[in-house]
Amino acid sequence: EKYIADNTRYDNGMEYARCGRSGVLLPKVSLGFWHNFGGVDDYSRSRAITRYAFDHGITHFDLANNYGPPYGSAEETMGRLMDDDFRPYRDELFISTKAGYDMWPGPYGNWGSRKYLMASLDQSLKRMRIDYADLFYSHRYDPETPLEETLQALVDIVRAGKALYIGISRWPLEALRVAIKYLKEHDVPLLIYQGRLNMIDRAPIEEGIIDECEREGVGFISFSPLAQGLLTDRYLNGVPEDSRMSKGKFLKSDMLTPELLNRLRRLNNQAASRGETLAEMALAWILQHKAVTSVLIGASSTRQLEKNLKCLSAEPI
Ligand code: NDP
Repeated sequence: EKYIADNTRYDNGMEYARCGRSGVLLPKVSLGFWHNFGGVDDYSRSRAITRYAFDHGITHFDLANNYGPPYGSAEETMGRLMDDDFRPYRDELFISTKAGYDMWPGPYGNWGSRKYLMASLDQSLKRMRIDYADLFYSHRYDPETPLEETLQALVDIVRAGKALYIGISRWPLEALRVAIKYLKEHDVPLLIYQGRLNMIDRAPIEEGIIDECEREGVGFISFSPLAQGLLTDRYLNGVPEDSRMSKGKFLKSDMLTPELLNRLRRLNNQAASRGETLAEMALAWILQHKAVTSVLIGASSTRQLEKNLKCLSAEPI
């Protein structure tokens, strides 16, 4: 059936934050396509999640070339969603993609060369059936390629109109500093840094990434804000069969040590005493950091999205 977006979508409680010192406002909750949008997943469920998100003011969808499985298939799902539902709303959407990890065989399908980044984004646009990406990321730091080559490729991508803004993900602090300077000097200021920040992984704070972003007017978006589901009630009483830990290879059961489980249970009790779920509290904890623009969540159902959006009204911790 034809999709008509909910006309209350901007009145449902979503808040938008300015991304660093830029003209871009991003929803405080963004939706990631890493899991649950691949060729192996049920399209009707991916579609329902995406519709629910947009109907509740989530205007930012985050992808990468190799999200799936198989590689490329999450972008193909995005393309199908554009054709089926979202083409009329293209200008209300902020779509990001990335290149940096293993994508195609041979020496040009990985890391940070100009050759790889240029070809990869062209492929991504075809799969997503869009003319340009709103945001293109270097998905990881490449210690072998001169930073200037990667950064100049990003500048040229913007100049060619293939992406409107540039981001970087998982770059170490020193390389982030080089990127900020280089991109500023080439009139393509770095829009955003994507890193993993959540209640059990505070590396971007400890490493000074968050402070650097704040000082330099670069936005920060936190991926895996729920630590892939650990910071929810999902694993408090065993490992459910339909969970990421039992199905996938990215969240391993040996992570769930007795110490971590105890800590999660304590956090869950803390959340309960505030009248919140652990997921809500965990997301609110990230969002209360002034330099954080958005939390980039994943969801395997509309119900999870619905629950997690409650973080927007949670009390500061
Ligand atoms: P989260 O930490 O939000 O984990 C999402 C998963 O947690 C869901 O798929 C679901 O797993 C579970 N979950 C979510 N809400 C609930 C709930 N209320 N109750 C119970 N379980 C819940 O984020 P992701 O790890 O999925 O990452 C989000 C996005 O970040 C990715 O899609 C991607 O766009 C980006 N990312 C970027 C990286 C980078 O290198 N730049 C690396 C990783 C992610 P399930 O139901 O399947 O058990």
